[in-house]
Amino acid sequence: MSAGASHGRVAIIGAGHVGSTAAYALMLRALFREIVLIDSNAALARAEAADLSDANALARPARIWAGTYADAGSAQIAVLTAGAATHGAQSRLEVVAQSAEVVGECARQLAAAGFEGIVLVAANPVDLMALVAFRNAGLPAARVIGTGTLLDSSRLRQALAAELAIAPGSIEGMVVGEHGDSEVTVFSSVRIGAQTLGELGALGSPVDQSAIAQEVRSAGYEIIAGKGYTSFGIATAIVRICEAIVRDERAILPVSSMMTGQLSLAGLYLSLPCVLGAGGVERVAVPPLDPSELAGLMASATVIQAAIAAMDAEPAGPA
Ligand code: NAD
Repeated sequence: MSAGASHGRVAIIGAGHVGSTAAYALMLRALFREIVLIDSNAALARAEAADLSDANALARPARIWAGTYADAGSAQIAVLTAGAATHGAQSRLEVVAQSAEVVGECARQLAAAGFEGIVLVAANPVDLMALVAFRNAGLPAARVIGTGTLLDSSRLRQALAAELAIAPGSIEGMVVGEHGDSEVTVFSSVRIGAQTLGELGALGSPVDQSAIAQEVRSAGYEIIAGKGYTSFGIATAIVRICEAIVRDERAILPVSSMMTGQLSLAGLYLSLPCVLGAGGVERVAVPPLDPSELAGLMASATVIQAAIAAMDAEPAGPA
């Protein structure tokens, strides 16, 4: 199939702000021939599918409908956005129990429908919800992925771009660890063109790293304070991950994947740069980290491990 061609079917579970915006972005990108929306609020899914279909004749046509898990069974990718949204200053980790119940149920329904594609989890807290999806979907860990810190990394590149008046596409940089308050900005490997931040600073353009890290960490809260939810950034991250998978790009993107011994970590999902291709996460790469970044990443892993332990201790928690 050529690089510009549409692929098969994507299922979007949860047709709320994130799910419907992701459907719209996927439609405009013409990545799939079929987009099925599934939501426990069937009227909402039908309305979003109808609204999206209204744009179809003016975009590159896709078949878009409100469907069931039976329709999702043959999808290449299931994007899981159903989950508890955070409000105000609520942290992502505060909605674990509510989201876990929803995500566990959706993943079990996918498994019952015979789904054998790739599950892409966006529901928060995403590192824990990717683990819940993995535990319930009956798929190898490589085929259950969380959107992770791709969004935070995009925010980092945009923040540096605004500060330095350089196009964000010309800035390499990433955030690793939890998609949440303990995330770690890897300033030591930021490259602007070929220059490090230190080299640029020596030329008279010093960057306040802690201010940038804070701006990136609080970006989601700021947007939620203004409009009640976030949608465009995460939808675009979803499109980028889907694109890397369906085109078998082997692109390296910071997403949340199962740790299998990297930095002696195992049994949890967190974000490190991953090679993404047709099989999902083809490889996890541990980037070079300076000592404080490494300490930050290990602390972030500890936060996630503690949240998993608390989640598993909940009597009503998922399998
Ligand atoms: P939303 O409330 O607008 O949408 C959630 C949808 O899920 C609703 O339409 C609801 O009816 C549906 N739903 C609930 N239970 C369901 C079930 N069992 N089966 C099917 N559908 C079900 O919320 P939103 O703003 O779209 O956010 C969705 C999730 O994405 C939240 O957890 C939010 O925190 C998360 N999010 C993640 C990122 C990220 O970077 N990973 C960014 C933004 C939002």
